[in-house]
Amino acid sequence: MINPRNHKWFFEATTAVEGHVHAIVRTIVSAQTKFQQMEILDTASYGKCLVLDGRIQSSQADEFIYHEALVHPGLPALDAEPNRALVIGGGEGATLREVLKCPTITRAVMVDIDDEVVALCREHLPEMHRGAFDDPRAELRHEDARAYLERTDERFDLIVVDLVEPLEEGPACMLFTGEFYMLVRERLSPKGVMTMQAGMTKVGELSFFTAVHRTLEQVFPIVAGYQAFVSCFGVPWGFILASKGIDPRQQTAQTIDRLCARRITGPVEYWGGAAHLHSFNLPKFISEAVRQQDRLITDKHPLVVS
Ligand code: SAM
Repeated sequence: MINPRNHKWFFEATTAVEGHVHAIVRTIVSAQTKFQQMEILDTASYGKCLVLDGRIQSSQADEFIYHEALVHPGLPALDAEPNRALVIGGGEGATLREVLKCPTITRAVMVDIDDEVVALCREHLPEMHRGAFDDPRAELRHEDARAYLERTDERFDLIVVDLVEPLEEGPACMLFTGEFYMLVRERLSPKGVMTMQAGMTKVGELSFFTAVHRTLEQVFPIVAGYQAFVSCFGVPWGFILASKGIDPRQQTAQTIDRLCARRITGPVEYWGGAAHLHSFNLPKFISEAVRQQDRLITDKHPLVVS
């Protein structure tokens, strides 16, 4: 039984006026990297958690929900078996792990700007990456992912954007703009797909999700928002799939189950036909907020969250 007085607590401010509190069993890592403040905390409810700039990125207990929801919808949304994938950000290595579950992927590049975060995750979070960095198909690069996209002439079937939120002076501010998404579109193969994490979908806190959605609609013919409840965040979480071909909202549960069985090997605990239908069928207040949003995020007017 937890006695609150005997515990240290980690408080995450979910919004300016709300938060989520976790009892800390021990602090495994506390470091200031070149780009961000990093902690790996062992919490009573969720096991090890990666925290960057005070925000929980993932937890040992429920990271499968976040990472499967982030990666798996992209695989059945491709019209052919995927070969090349790119992970933008992705610190813990769990996004790379999920991408590598696709047996036809022959090359998966992960570009995370922060070598210290990745090295500390590699050392202290083996439960999350499960050896993904050592897979011969993986290439790990440490640089700004936008600069990498500007330079490379490679084309990818699947691009997964797993970035920290665009905090003021944080490293990801210029990776949520229309210009950045145009670059992503150009680096995708002709029927390629992008999936991304897009902030919370909590009542009253939809401005980030809806502005990213609206911005993507200017760039891709198909833009489909979806959500999953990630308990360690304490709020429902938004994701967006943008594609040049298939619309995931037109796919049946049977199609998803059939394609997932072929394109995802290894353990799957969250994603499948039922989760797909549940996630892409957004409730009215969210689709209405997306419809009403007119904010376009640009390099000149980037969106910064506080
Ligand atoms: N699960 C996440 C969440 O809840 O926001 C994001 C996961 S992952 C830890 C985010 C990664 O994005 C970090 O490791 C960070 O170093 C990386 N990142 C931030 N800005 C970047 C940039 N400009 N280029 C490449 N990687 C970047």
